[in-house]
Amino acid sequence: MGTPSCGRTRSRRTTTWPMCSTTTTCRSRRRGRRSVRSRAASLMSFERRSRSLLSTRPAIFMALLAGIAARGAGADLLLVDRGEPRSVIVTADAPSPSARKAAGVLQEYIEKISGARLRVTTESASTAPGRVLVGHTAAARKLNVEIPSGFTTKLNEEGFVIRTVGQDLILAGNEDWRYRGTEIAVNKFLESLGCRWYFAGDYGEVVPTLRRIRVRPVDRTERPSFRLRNIWYSGWMTCTEEEHARFVKWCDLNNMSGMPRRLPYDGSVKKLVPDASLLESHPHIFALDKQGNRVPDMLCMTEPDAVKIAVRTITDYFREHPDAVTFAFAPPDGHPMCHGERCLAAVPGFGGKGYGDPSLSDLWFRFANKVATKVRKEFPDRWILTNGYANRVRLPEGIGSFSPNLGIQSAVIAACTLHRIGDPACWQRRSYRKLIDRWTEQLDWVFIYDYDPGKGLDGLPFPTLHCIRHDLPYLHRRGVWGFWTEGNNGWMITHLNHYVRARLMWNVNEDVGQIVRDYCEKFYGRAADDIERYMWKLEHAVERSRVHTTWGRLTPWKHILTSDVIEALDGAIADAERRNLEADARRRVDVLSRVHRHMKTYLDMVTALDDGAFRQASDLAARMLEMRDELARIDPSLIPHTGPPYREFRSTTEWHRDVYQGLADRAGGKNGELIAMLPRRWQFKPDAKDVGVLDRWYLPGRGEPWERIDVTTYWEAQGHQDAEGFGTWGKAWYRTRFQLSADAADRPLTLTLGAVYNRGLWVWVNGVLVAHHPEKHDVRTPLDIDVTRHLNPGRVNTVAILVNTPPPGRNPRGGLHRRVFVWSPRSSSGLR
Ligand SMILES: [Zn+2]
Ligand SMILES: [Zn+2]
Repeated sequence: MGTPSCGRTRSRRTTTWPMCSTTTTCRSRRRGRRSVRSRAASLMSFERRSRSLLSTRPAIFMALLAGIAARGAGADLLLVDRGEPRSVIVTADAPSPSARKAAGVLQEYIEKISGARLRVTTESASTAPGRVLVGHTAAARKLNVEIPSGFTTKLNEEGFVIRTVGQDLILAGNEDWRYRGTEIAVNKFLESLGCRWYFAGDYGEVVPTLRRIRVRPVDRTERPSFRLRNIWYSGWMTCTEEEHARFVKWCDLNNMSGMPRRLPYDGSVKKLVPDASLLESHPHIFALDKQGNRVPDMLCMTEPDAVKIAVRTITDYFREHPDAVTFAFAPPDGHPMCHGERCLAAVPGFGGKGYGDPSLSDLWFRFANKVATKVRKEFPDRWILTNGYANRVRLPEGIGSFSPNLGIQSAVIAACTLHRIGDPACWQRRSYRKLIDRWTEQLDWVFIYDYDPGKGLDGLPFPTLHCIRHDLPYLHRRGVWGFWTEGNNGWMITHLNHYVRARLMWNVNEDVGQIVRDYCEKFYGRAADDIERYMWKLEHAVERSRVHTTWGRLTPWKHILTSDVIEALDGAIADAERRNLEADARRRVDVLSRVHRHMKTYLDMVTALDDGAFRQASDLAARMLEMRDELARIDPSLIPHTGPPYREFRSTTEWHRDVYQGLADRAGGKNGELIAMLPRRWQFKPDAKDVGVLDRWYLPGRGEPWERIDVTTYWEAQGHQDAEGFGTWGKAWYRTRFQLSADAADRPLTLTLGAVYNRGLWVWVNGVLVAHHPEKHDVRTPLDIDVTRHLNPGRVNTVAILVNTPPPGRNPRGGLHRRVFVWSPRSSSGLR
C-alpha cells in the first residue's frame, strides 16, 4: 500500500455520496436548429444521452416538459458569438473559495474554446438576465433553483445542478464542508461542450474550437455514485512539483473528491500516541518485537492501557475539531505483530492465500473495535477508520458484530490485477469478492484501496477497462463508499484506465463502451475505428487470459499477447497510420504506435530469452529503455522521464537488461563459454505424495510415466491449474537428458538454472545431489552449480530438479521459467 507522498495528497476535502444512484436529467430541443456549431462534434454525446433518456423514461420527460412550461423555459442563452463574449460569469458577492475557483475554470476554458474571455463579476454588479450564475447566489435562490447544500457525517449531500431559467444559466452545487459541487457543475458543463481531460498534462486535454457557444434549455441534477473518489495518480513513484500540479489539476477536472484528512495510511497508528515520551513512561502500551524490545511504531493490541490512551487521543481530537468526520489509524506497512505472549496467544493462526501468515485480523480488529465502541459513547456520529491490508485482509473470526462507527479501507494487494471481481476462472478475484461481500455486510463504511494497474513496471499497456466496467457497479451495489486507487503515472501503461475510473466514480451507470468510442473520436479523428478496435482487442486479450498476476509480479505477457492478438493489433495500427489524419490525430496515432512497438520489443526480448539468445535479450531490454526516453521527449506525461526521480520506474527493464547480460557473459561472453544449452522441453511430474526421492525419480526410467513441459514458463501457465486457476502445488520434478561433447573434458563446468519459482529446490546430476536450497532460492536470480566432477563428457547426462511450492497464495507460481545451460567459466571470472 504505502503512504501517499506525491500525487493527490491534498489535505482538503472529502466528498461523497454513495447509495443513491445518480440522477441525470437533461433536455434539449431535438428538432430545433442546431445552434452550437462544433468542429469537434462536441455535443454529439450530450444529444445521444438526452435521446436515450427521452426514449427510456417518457414519464421523466413529461415531468420535465411540465417544469419547462411552469418556468417558461425561455430562449437559448448565448455565451459567445463570433469569438466575442455575450454573457458574464456571476458569483455571489462573497463567493466561497470553491465557487471562485469554479468561475476561474469556466472563464479559462470558455476562452480556450472560443477565444472570448467572459468577465467574472458579482451578482450586485450584474443584475440583468443573460448571466452564468456560478455557485450559491441570491439570484439563483430568487429564481427558485434548489442547489444541493448541507453536510452530515454520512457525507450524503454532494451534488450539483446545471439549469437554465429564462436567460440565465445556473452552474452550482454543494459548497459546504469540503464538497466541490459547484466546481463539478462547471466541469460537467464544459464536458457537455466537448472538453475532455483524458490524461494529466496538455497531451491528454481535448478542447473543441467553437466561435459561438449557445446553451439550449437544460435542467440537470446529479449526485455522485461514490462519496470518496480519488486516484493517487502518481502512485508510489516519485514525481516533480510540476507533475504533481498537473495530476492535481487532472483530478479536479475529473471530479475527484479529495479525501478526508484522517485516512488509515500505513503507520498512522502512531497518531494514537502523539506524545513521544509515552515510550519511556508507558512502555507496556507498545508492541514487542521478536527480541522482546518495545517498538515505537506499533501498539500492544491486548493492553487495556493502549485502548485507553487511544480513546483519549481521539476524543480530545474530536473535541478540538468539531468539523472532523473521521479519525483513522493503521499499523505500519509490512506484516506487523506484537510478539508479547498475550497477543500471540490471541492469534488464531489462520493464514495462507497471501493475506498474511498468520492473520492479525482477530487481534487488530478487536483492538480497533474496542476503541470505536468507547469513542462512540461521546461521538456517535464520527467515524473510526482502519485498514484491512497485508495481514489484516481477512475478516476476524472472533468478533460477532462491529461498533457501528467503525469503517474500513479494504486493500487487497494479493489479488490478480488482470481479472474482474468474481471472475469464475480467477480464484484470487473470487476470494476478493467473498471478502468484500462480508465486509459490506458487517460495516457501513467500507471503501476500497485498489491498484490500477498494479505494479506494471514493464511499461506495457495494462488495460483494466473490462474490470472497471464490472467492478465499480458491483462495488456500488455493495454500498461501498468510494476509492483510493493507487495509480501509476505512465500513460503508456494506464492509457484510459484512470479516466474511465473517474467517470464511473461519479456516475456508475456510464456506458464504458460509449466513453471509449467518444475518446477514440475526439482523440484520433478519422482513425477512431482503428484505435477502438485496437483498445478492445487488447482488453479482451487480458480479460480472457488464464494466467494471473498480482502487484509486484512479472506479468506473463507472452501468454496474453499471443501471435494472433499481436497480428490483429498490428493491423489496427497499420490501418490507423494509413488514414489521412489531421495533425493532432496523426501525432497521437504516432505515439500509440510507439507504445505498440515498445510492447513488441518486450515480446521479442522474451522470445530471445526463451531461445537462449541472452545477449540479444539484453540488447532488446536496452532498446526498450531508449524507446521510453523517445516517448518522454515527445511529452513527459506519456511516461515518467528518465531522470533520478524515475529510477524505480526504469528499474524493472534495467533489471531485465542486466540479468540477461549476466547470462550472456556466462554463455559466450567475458566470463565463460557455452558448453551445452539444455533442451527447452523437459520431462515433468508432480509429486503430491512426496515419494520421488525414495523412488529415485532423478534417474532415467524411474517414476514413469512423465509429462512434457517447457522450462521457460512456470507450470500454472502451461495448464497445471484447475478451472478456478488454483495451480498444482507441493513438489514436482523436472528431468532431462543431453549429450555432452567430449571437448568438455578437463574443463571446469557450471550448470546454471536461469530462474525457478520455488520454496525449496534440489538438483541431481547423473544420480548425485549437487545442490539443495530447502527453504528457497531467489525466484528471479540464476542459480550456478559447480558440476565439474559430476558431468560425463562425451556421454549422455541426466539432470533432475525437484521443486517445492506452497499452497496457492499471493504468488501462485511454480517451477522453472528460464533456460538451463552448462558453461565453462574462465579462470578468475567474476560472476554477475
Ligand atoms: Zn501485545
Ligand atoms: Zn486472475
